[in-house]
Amino acid sequence: MTEQKILFYNSITRTKEDFKPLDAQNVRMYVCGPTVYDFAHIGNARPIVVFDVVFRLLRHVFGENHVTYVRNITDVDDKINRRAAEEYPNVPLNEAIAIVTRKTEAQFHRDISALGVLEPSVEPRATEHIAEMRTLIEALVVKGNAYVAENHVLFDVSSMPDYGRLANRSLEEMEAGARVEVAPYKKNAMDFVLWKPSKKGEPAWLSPGGIEAQGRPGWHIECSAMAGCHLGETFDIHGGGIDLIFPHHENEVAQSRCAHGTSAMAQVWMHNGFLQVEGEKMSKSLGNFITINELLATGKFGGRSWAGPILRLAMLATHYRQPINWAVAGLLEAEKTYVRWAELHQAYSVEAPPALTERVARHLCNDLNTPGVIAELHSLAREAEKGSEDAVRELSVNARFLGLALQGYVKPERTAPIPVEDIEQRIAERLAARNAKNWAEADRIRDELAALGIQLKDSKKTDTGEIVTTWEIL
Ligand code: AMP
Ligand code: ZN
Repeated sequence: MTEQKILFYNSITRTKEDFKPLDAQNVRMYVCGPTVYDFAHIGNARPIVVFDVVFRLLRHVFGENHVTYVRNITDVDDKINRRAAEEYPNVPLNEAIAIVTRKTEAQFHRDISALGVLEPSVEPRATEHIAEMRTLIEALVVKGNAYVAENHVLFDVSSMPDYGRLANRSLEEMEAGARVEVAPYKKNAMDFVLWKPSKKGEPAWLSPGGIEAQGRPGWHIECSAMAGCHLGETFDIHGGGIDLIFPHHENEVAQSRCAHGTSAMAQVWMHNGFLQVEGEKMSKSLGNFITINELLATGKFGGRSWAGPILRLAMLATHYRQPINWAVAGLLEAEKTYVRWAELHQAYSVEAPPALTERVARHLCNDLNTPGVIAELHSLAREAEKGSEDAVRELSVNARFLGLALQGYVKPERTAPIPVEDIEQRIAERLAARNAKNWAEADRIRDELAALGIQLKDSKKTDTGEIVTTWEIL
């Protein structure tokens, strides 16, 4: 164990704090994992990559065998039920659900392992912790924090004086902002579901005491139960995307603290910022929705596929709390950097196990300043180019520490995202626009092609003065 001070920004106190684990022999972190019904998109990859780096840092500082990282699989959810019924209409729903969740989980593992993500210490599935959920819910009812109504169990938010502390909102503000239709069986508009009845054919389990009909858990209680089971009543770090602060994490805190009678669920709450695609919110309706798998294996983004380490480096180039703009330009930049580092590595053929050196560690220990780390690696690369073998070694071992192995990188083949005839047609249209002095249209066509990763180059024929345009895929 090295003596290293770590600072993490804590969402609950809204300050950067010295990180002091409850037990340095067993540092405990929980991160909300995927709901397994479809391919994970590149926004989903962000918390996975960010907390993978946190995991690596904690293992470095406290020792490999002194960190427990739990990242769950949510395999009970309405979206899963809907997808299973759509995809396998002729299979009994429960079987269809099992097929969907297992195949999605396997795909998720393939995708994130291409991004250099380590396996967490434990990866619990919600369906394997229903008994613990029931126990938590029963405790909440006995303590007066939850009530049974029409075969549901609801958490009574008025029973918890500091409900809203994580989200930094009072109950009154939340009520005023709530636009959801309030179910008649709720005492308070903000009361949330711990358990609900299952419809016919849906997955169903023995309900908490006092409810005859079988039912299923709400989303929030799944994480409280899995975290409690694997990490205990209070642990060190809880993470996820910033969108989860409210209601998901606020409700996890309420359930866990009230059930266990503790003053905290986790000491530190860490949230990654959101990912946008080329400056816009990612959504299926905008057509800019992009999965990890499509980036790795198809030409859907920028007209070509991208190697896992490039995606990882591009992800880490932005500080985890900032919003990230996922753009072809950023991936090209990451590729340029990565190829340069890989070439230096190959030129010196250094082979050494991953390590975090002081020069790089100080950035990571400062609230996971990965842009600072990358700047430091750039300086090492400059020193390496001047002939320093030590610098190459330091670059290489730190890159490996970050999950970016520099050996064996092969640039993927570049294929045009649209047929070549279409590109030629666009170029002809641009030339016509230029001849008509319609510069705006000519630029528009050039930019449109650039957005597809196709760069145009104009040159003048010396004899005739005629403009010739060639193109290349970036
Ligand atoms: P979900 O499948 O929506 O529950 O999300 C799984 C994880 O991905 C959560 O930690 C979310 O906060 C995170 N997440 C979802 N969309 C984005 C996004 N566009 N940018 C960053 N994180 C996201
Ligand atoms: Zn969760």
